[in-house]
Amino acid sequence: MDSSSGKTPQTSTPAKFFEKHRQAILSFLDSQRQSAVSRTVFAAVAAAVLLGTGFSAVSAADRPADETVAVASADREENDQAGRSAERDEATDTEAAEKATEKETETKAPEPKKAEPKPAPDWVVPSPAPISDVYGPRDWRGGEMHYGTDFAAAEGADNVAAADGVVVQSGANGGYGLGITIEHANGVVTVYGHHSKLLVSVGDKVKAGDVIGLAGSTGDVTGPHLHFEVYVNGAPTDPVKFLKDKGVKV
Ligand SMILES: [Zn+2]
Repeated sequence: MDSSSGKTPQTSTPAKFFEKHRQAILSFLDSQRQSAVSRTVFAAVAAAVLLGTGFSAVSAADRPADETVAVASADREENDQAGRSAERDEATDTEAAEKATEKETETKAPEPKKAEPKPAPDWVVPSPAPISDVYGPRDWRGGEMHYGTDFAAAEGADNVAAADGVVVQSGANGGYGLGITIEHANGVVTVYGHHSKLLVSVGDKVKAGDVIGLAGSTGDVTGPHLHFEVYVNGAPTDPVKFLKDKGVKV
């Protein structure tokens, strides 16, 4: 920043000019002390101005004395040019300073790569069969609540895990007949009922789409189908709405 201080003017007119500029520079620097970028930019401008003044001083010193008036006039022109040049330099230097600041930031504080948040498990429909009964109160049973979605799966058809998870129940389960319960991430549990055959055991880790059992008509049924329930943090949830919210085409 002080590299320009060596260029001391050698004649009185440019020396005054320099002195005038120097005072302006010093007072400006003082007012801009809190801004590093402004200091950098202004230092560049100051250097350009001083450089112009220095060149004027040297050229004036080399000229004969009888050209003093002409020199003084020329100095004004040169200084005006230096001023305009400094304005252009300022624009360039501002960009350069901004780039330098960006580069410095990149170099000094490299952003540590944050671990990607674990994506929610992908969900699939537990049976390709058409839906035969929906979640909600059943008119034909006097308003009894149906806590799941029924898929009209044929006897022996594949029932699949709706998402990655761990089997927490597999076996006879009251009205569900041969049932399976799977625990998933984020407090979600799915229940599958009425199998003719179970293909997973408690503790098994399953992936979305894995065949877990074959459809049947065990338990409280009027015909073979898959009864499918979804619980979110213990609360029964409409499976169709849940799957649709997960982006699954149901
Ligand atoms: Zn059902």
